[in-house]
Amino acid sequence: MFQMAEPSSYLFPIADHEHLVSAWIRLNLRSGMGYFSFDQVLKKWNLPKRHIQAQRPDEMLLKSVASQIRCIDERRLAYTHTAVALWELSVEMDQRLELTNCLAPARLEHTTLAFNTGWQLCPRCAENDKEQLGYSFWHRNHQLPSVAHCYIHGTELLSCDSLRHMSSLILPASWHPADLSSMPLSSELQKWSRFVLKVDRILLESLEVVSEWRSEIWLLLGLPKKIRLKDRSLFDDLSTQFEAKTGYAVLSHLFKAYRDDRDKRPNILWTTLYDRAKTVRHPVYWLVILFWLRFELNIDVD
Ligand SMILES: [Zn+2]
Repeated sequence: MFQMAEPSSYLFPIADHEHLVSAWIRLNLRSGMGYFSFDQVLKKWNLPKRHIQAQRPDEMLLKSVASQIRCIDERRLAYTHTAVALWELSVEMDQRLELTNCLAPARLEHTTLAFNTGWQLCPRCAENDKEQLGYSFWHRNHQLPSVAHCYIHGTELLSCDSLRHMSSLILPASWHPADLSSMPLSSELQKWSRFVLKVDRILLESLEVVSEWRSEIWLLLGLPKKIRLKDRSLFDDLSTQFEAKTGYAVLSHLFKAYRDDRDKRPNILWTTLYDRAKTVRHPVYWLVILFWLRFELNIDVD
């Protein structure tokens, strides 16, 4: 459904697989903004002072960049050059038009999510891109929520504290790999990274699959159409099966509560499936349920 954009169709060319923010950084560098403070750069584009995040939809930035590069199809730009497709897993049909308004605050992610939510890079990609294109760029697929491996090389993605938010006009090749590190990752997480990339690819083909997956989840788990508070006990049994089959490696990569024995563990299934209307859950809640049921749903990567 969404083909990669032809670079020539925009006023400023975006590389295949390049994140939108990366193209925006290059545009600014090319316009001589490299010596300005980040706040001044934002001001120039009428953007409020903000931290630019890798994995969350940012409608204001999207609109601003779309107009800078004279792109008339914002939707296509968003799907091919940001991580927004995976957020579709979390969104109810009637929320689609106002996604950024109903997201849970980012600060909540830091208290519950364990994986790196900052900007990630693969040093081999940075080197190859620079060699082939003359510049390195932030890859969209390296910024998909909870993905920890390069989609090209299969190697661990690197990051550091100062990349938690983008707050300077900097491209991946400017970082020395010695100043970066990866999260401690078990080999089982390779499969998780491949799974998230596969779900993302399926979503880019067709978003209709979201409602199909939801119906199948309800059917497979034998859930009532409208889940009520009194159904809570149903979820205790299901949760035991979910944890056993999903595995500690994946759960502790995603959720802090599984890393620390002192924490009371959330019932991920209940949290995700009950009362979905109030806030948009981070997509990893839906991804991990799909991962648990991947054989039944035919989205396996083994
Ligand atoms: Zn790579």
